[in-house]
Amino acid sequence: MQKNLPETSQRTDRALSDPSGLSAFAEMVLESMPCGVGVLACDGEDEFFLLGANPALLAYLRAPETPDFPVALDSICDISLSKDFREAFETSLKHGEIGQFSLAWGEAEARRTFAGTLQVMASQDKDTRRLLMTLHDTTAETARQTELLRSTLYDPLTGLPNYSLFLRMVNDILDRLDTPDRAAMIVINLDRFRLVNESLGISAADQLLLEVSQRLSKLCPDEAILARIASDEFALFVPVNVTEAEALALARKIHHQLDTVFTLDQHNVYVTVSIGIDLLSKQIHSGEDLVDNALSAMHRAKAEGRGRTVLYHAELRKRSQSLFALESDLREALDTKSLELHYQPICDMRTGAVIGVEALARWNHPTKGPISPLEFIAVAENAGLIGKLGRWALEEACSQLAYWDQVTHQSRALTMNVNVSGAQLGEPGFVEIVRDALTMAGLNGERIRLELTESTIMSNADLITDMLLDLKAQGISIAVDDFGTGYSSLSYLNRFPIDTLKIDRSFVSRLGESAEDSKIIHIITMLARTLGMTVVAEGVETEAQRKLLGELGCHFGQGYFFARPLPARDVTKLLQTQATLPDTARDGPEH
Ligand code: C2E
Ligand code: CA
Ligand code: CA
Repeated sequence: MQKNLPETSQRTDRALSDPSGLSAFAEMVLESMPCGVGVLACDGEDEFFLLGANPALLAYLRAPETPDFPVALDSICDISLSKDFREAFETSLKHGEIGQFSLAWGEAEARRTFAGTLQVMASQDKDTRRLLMTLHDTTAETARQTELLRSTLYDPLTGLPNYSLFLRMVNDILDRLDTPDRAAMIVINLDRFRLVNESLGISAADQLLLEVSQRLSKLCPDEAILARIASDEFALFVPVNVTEAEALALARKIHHQLDTVFTLDQHNVYVTVSIGIDLLSKQIHSGEDLVDNALSAMHRAKAEGRGRTVLYHAELRKRSQSLFALESDLREALDTKSLELHYQPICDMRTGAVIGVEALARWNHPTKGPISPLEFIAVAENAGLIGKLGRWALEEACSQLAYWDQVTHQSRALTMNVNVSGAQLGEPGFVEIVRDALTMAGLNGERIRLELTESTIMSNADLITDMLLDLKAQGISIAVDDFGTGYSSLSYLNRFPIDTLKIDRSFVSRLGESAEDSKIIHIITMLARTLGMTVVAEGVETEAQRKLLGELGCHFGQGYFFARPLPARDVTKLLQTQATLPDTARDGPEH
């Protein structure tokens, strides 16, 4: 290993023959010093020789344990060629300061790093310079720093870049892109993640996130960057060759990939995601803009009912700002109890007798006027207000029903149908909330029927089985709302304690137009009879529909033909005078 000393000039000979630096050094150095220390000689031509070194320095330089000093430094390692080392030398030489340099060798696990200093010792002539060199092993510290950096840049659960690293990577790419219309930002947010978190616990929720990230990685095009940018949110940046159609196709694949069941701690969980996409355009100046726009689009997808993709357009930002304003207005409306319930009668299809009512929330906004429940229920769900709204609706509906019991003399007790959204089931203590509302009003469970959509049932299947059984045990019945629109498999009908199917309005409105819809309704009524369930047709608007539905075996109906949703006082009057519909005197728009 050791290179023979070159037959160099006189200057070099002088440098090597003067032992003063070495002897001074030899006295100082402790064998066991955990820091590498050595003395170098430098000839006038910048060639370095190691005159002496402690064992640590020799080990750090990967030199033989007992070299024949003096030894040319470049015969041991190539440090003297490094720019860093040269600069440290220059610094010390010119300014009399301690020059600093670093050294690293080995790969991966075996990689070691060192921090070194060089100091030109005083009073030497140019040809026999002595230098004190030290080397510290910084491997552990470097590993710690690397880990720290990793944990500040990567998500520890999925190993994906976090938001801050993601933005940096995206901005780097944007800086380099020269065809600025060929990139897409796709933001993917898990719908109702909180529900999984609260009902199955953090470890199952983590497992879900991990599996989602793995499924997403599989779909990720080669050049794309996938990151976890918030607890239940991923972002995918595709920097090349993406048209709008291709970005949408990728989003479809994502929905599809996440469509199959996740098994978490033996629970089967179905998830949907809301996706927002923004394509790079001239108005975009940074990764932040792209993400913001994709987020606005994603929020829109949520507001439109989740489980879908929305492509960003400038209108959306305005809309998301007004959505935010609506959210705070709704919060206030709930606090000041300025929402109302209207009640739509549910009637016997043949006699028109009112057998129950469905409570439907109404919000008359102080400046915007009436706002559709489709809109404000979605706002409530996204803003985490649905628990409060749902509790209010249950309490209000129960107390109203108790009032009607007192002031009217119905031959049979009315049933109160109350809508329950999926997000509400995730609120802690849902069953207790229902029970409390009944108790406060002095009603028993048979008097209320909770309406849940098929997708609410299916996307929370594992979480709600016990809940539904518990409600059932208290006499409360369950209706499947908008039946026929949500879920292709009907296996859940056997699995859950369901009492009523409410045939979606879309089937009823097409009645008479296509034989297909009559057939479907007929099959639903037969199926319901077999399973011991009742059927209510929604959206009955005409006498012809009423008649046909009756013939198809549908016993109950709800719709403008019988009555619109009415304020409580109108229902009171209706129940006090007569309880069969349609009541032509009262037929008219909702007020
Ligand atoms: P839904 O549960 O399917 O309620 C029936 C909707 O159909 C009501 O719309 C009702 O006004 C309308 N409707 C009834 N008969 C007819 C008809 O003959 N023709 C037509 N075209 N429409 C008819 P609304 O009141 O706008 O409510 C919309 C949705 O908002 C409801 O759909 C329900 O999903 C939700 N919603 C309303 N109130 C609440 C609530 O208190 N809690 C929850 N979670 N959701 C609610
Ligand atoms: Ca309903
Ligand atoms: Ca419905």
